[in-house]
Amino acid sequence: PVGPPAEKDAGRRRTGRPVRGGGAPGAASTDRSARPQRPNQRSRRQMVGRDEIYNGAQGRNRKRRVSSRKGAKTQLTRPAAHKRVVRVDGTISVGELAKAMSVKGNEVLAKLIQLGVMCTLNQQIDAETCALVATEYEYEIKDVAFDEDEVLSSAQSDAEIEKDPDALPRSPIVTVMGHVDHGKTTLLDHIRNAQVAAGEAGGITQHIAAYRVKAKDGNELVFLDTPGHAAFTAMRARGASITDLIVLVVAADDGVMPQTVESINHARAAGVPLIVAINKLDKPGVDPERIKQELTKYNLVSEEWGGETMFVNISALKGTNIDALLEALALQAEILELKANPKKEAFGTVLEARIDKGRGSVCTIIVQEGTLKSGDYVVTGQSYGRVRALIDDRGKRIKEAGPATPVEVLGLNAIPAAGDTFHVVANERDAKKVVSRRDTQARAAVMDNSRRTDAGVDLLAAMGKPAAQRKAFILKTDVAGSLEALKATINDISNDEVEVHFIHTGVGQVNESDITLAQAAEATVLAFNVGADAKAKRAADQAGIKILTHKVIYEIVDLVKDLLSGMLTPDIVESFLGRAEVRAVFSIKTGQVAGCYVQEGKILRNARARVFRGGNKVYEGKLITLKRFKDDVREVNSGYECGLSIDGYKEIAEGDIVEVFELKEVRRKLGDS
Ligand code: GDP
Ligand code: MG
Repeated sequence: PVGPPAEKDAGRRRTGRPVRGGGAPGAASTDRSARPQRPNQRSRRQMVGRDEIYNGAQGRNRKRRVSSRKGAKTQLTRPAAHKRVVRVDGTISVGELAKAMSVKGNEVLAKLIQLGVMCTLNQQIDAETCALVATEYEYEIKDVAFDEDEVLSSAQSDAEIEKDPDALPRSPIVTVMGHVDHGKTTLLDHIRNAQVAAGEAGGITQHIAAYRVKAKDGNELVFLDTPGHAAFTAMRARGASITDLIVLVVAADDGVMPQTVESINHARAAGVPLIVAINKLDKPGVDPERIKQELTKYNLVSEEWGGETMFVNISALKGTNIDALLEALALQAEILELKANPKKEAFGTVLEARIDKGRGSVCTIIVQEGTLKSGDYVVTGQSYGRVRALIDDRGKRIKEAGPATPVEVLGLNAIPAAGDTFHVVANERDAKKVVSRRDTQARAAVMDNSRRTDAGVDLLAAMGKPAAQRKAFILKTDVAGSLEALKATINDISNDEVEVHFIHTGVGQVNESDITLAQAAEATVLAFNVGADAKAKRAADQAGIKILTHKVIYEIVDLVKDLLSGMLTPDIVESFLGRAEVRAVFSIKTGQVAGCYVQEGKILRNARARVFRGGNKVYEGKLITLKRFKDDVREVNSGYECGLSIDGYKEIAEGDIVEVFELKEVRRKLGDS
C-alpha cells in the first residue's frame, strides 16, 4: 500500500513543491537540500523491512539523485537549528510529519510504535506526540494551532466578577430535579401557566427550554425546562455549569428514591445549593415529616431542625404553596449575590437546538455574560452565523438579551448540541476560523477514535485480556437537547466487558439511510420521541431491523441494559444439591459402590461430588452410578438409601460424607458487579 504515495512523494521532491501540511516551506526545502544523516538510520530501516523491499528501487533512486545534487553539502552541514522546525497546526498525519522531516513514513511509524503510540501512516497525531519522535531527528515541533481564546472571550471567574465595576445583579437560574414521577413536569407546568394566568404580557405559551418567572416580591427567576437531570448531567460533563439553584422534588407518597439520591449527589458535585420541595401534599395520609427524616441521612437537614436546607411543602398538581417555593428560591438567590457584566461580549450555553421547517436552525441559549444583540456574529459548537432574530420566552422578538436571559437565536448555519458554549465574535472571518478549526479537530478525533479503538483491541488481545464486546447503536431524537442527554446516559452503561458504541446519532425521524447503516453495522436503532418515515419502515421490515421507539428516557436506558446484559459472559455458580453418609462399601468388578444414606437434599446422577473424611475434602469427581436396590435411578431423596460410585475414586470408606452439587450458568444483568 505504500507504493503510490512514495511515488508521489518523489515527484513532489523533484518539482520542488513545498511539502503540504508541514506548513513550513522553509523547513521543507531545507530538508531536501540537506537531510541529516542519523547514524542508526540503517538499522531502523531494516526494521521496517517489507516496505523497504516493496519500494526499494525508488528509495535508491531518490537517494542517488539527492546525493548527486547536494552530496557535498550533506556531509558538511545539517540544516540550521532554526530551520529544523516543523510547524504543526494542532495535529498532523504521521506521513506528513515524516515528509516534513524528510524521513520515510514507515520509519517514523516504527519509531512511534516503539514509543508505544499505536498508529497508522494516515493517522493524525498531536503536536506533543510529534515532539516525541521529532527530537530523535533533532527537529523541533512548533504548535501553530490557532488559539480560540484569542478571539473568544472567556467566562469571568467569581473573583473577576467581584472586582468588575460593570457587574450588575442578575436573576438566578434554577433547575428542577428529582425522581421520575415525583412531579417535576407538573411543577414546571404550573409555574409557567401561573405566569400566563397572572396576565403576564404574552404569557409563556410555546415550549421553550427555559423561561423567566416573576415571584410575588417582584424578583425574577429563570427556570430551565430541560429533560430532567440527564440533561443537567450532560451539560456538567461538558463543563457547562449554568445552574445557580436546584429544586429537589420529592413526592411525599414515595419518599427518597434512587434518582433523588442521584440529584443530591449531582448538586453536591456541582456545588449548587438545593431547596427541597416535598410534593403531592394533597394526597391523603402523606407525611412530609417522614421525608424530612429520610433526607437527614443525606445531610439535608431542614432549618426548623437546626439545619441549613430550606424545605417547602407543595402540591404541584393543585398549585398549593408554589409562591412560597418561589420566595424561598429568591431568598436563597439573594444570599448568592449573583452578578454578571452586561457590557462584555456575550457568552452563554446552548440548552436546546432544532431545525424548524420555516425558520431553519433554532437554538435556545441562555446568555450568561454580556449582551447578545441582533446582528452579532456568533459561534457555537461547529456552527456559526449572524443573529437574524432573537425571540424571548414569550415568543416576542427582542433586540438584545442580557445576562440570565433565555432566548431563541435564529440565523445559525447548523444545529449545535445542548451544552455547547455560545460566543459572540468580532466578525464573520473569526467565526469561520473558529468553526473550521473545530471541524478539523472533530474529524481528526473521529478518525483517530475508530483507529485507536482497533489498535486498543489488538493491544488488549496481545496482553491476553479480552476486549470489551461492543454493541452498535443508532440514536435519533426529536431535539438536540435530548440527544446529548441520552447519549451521555446510555454511554454510562458501558463497563469493562460490554461497551455501547454509537455509530450514528442525529436529530429527526429515522430515515432510510439510518436503516442501511444499521444493517451494515448490525446496529440497533433507538428512536426517542420520533418515528420512522415510510421508506425507513419498509427498509427496516425487509432487512428485519427493529426500530425501538420510546418516549421515556429510562425505558430506553433499561432496554439498552437488557441488550447488553445478553452479551455478558454468564457467572458460573455452584449450587448445593444434597449430602449422603457412606454406611457400607462393596467391591464390584469395575471398582467400588458406596451404600449411602441421604441425609439432606437429594443426590443426582451425573452431578459433581465431593468426598469428605473427618471434615476434610479427600476427593472431587463426577457421580457416575446411582442405584436404588438393583435399579439405576436419576435421583434419590433425603431419608432414603442408595448405592453410588464416583468416577475414578476407589478409596471411599465407611463414614465418609459425600456432598453433591451442580454448576449453573447464571445470566448477569448490567449493574450487578
Ligand atoms: P416527573 O416525572 O417528575 O416529571 O413527574 P410528573 O410531573 O410527570 O408527574 C407524575 C405524576 O404525578 C403525574 O400523574 C402527575 O399528575 C402526578 N402529580 C404531580 N404532582 C402532583 C401533586 O402535587 N399531587 C398529586 N396528587 N399528583 C401529582
Ligand atoms: Mg417529567
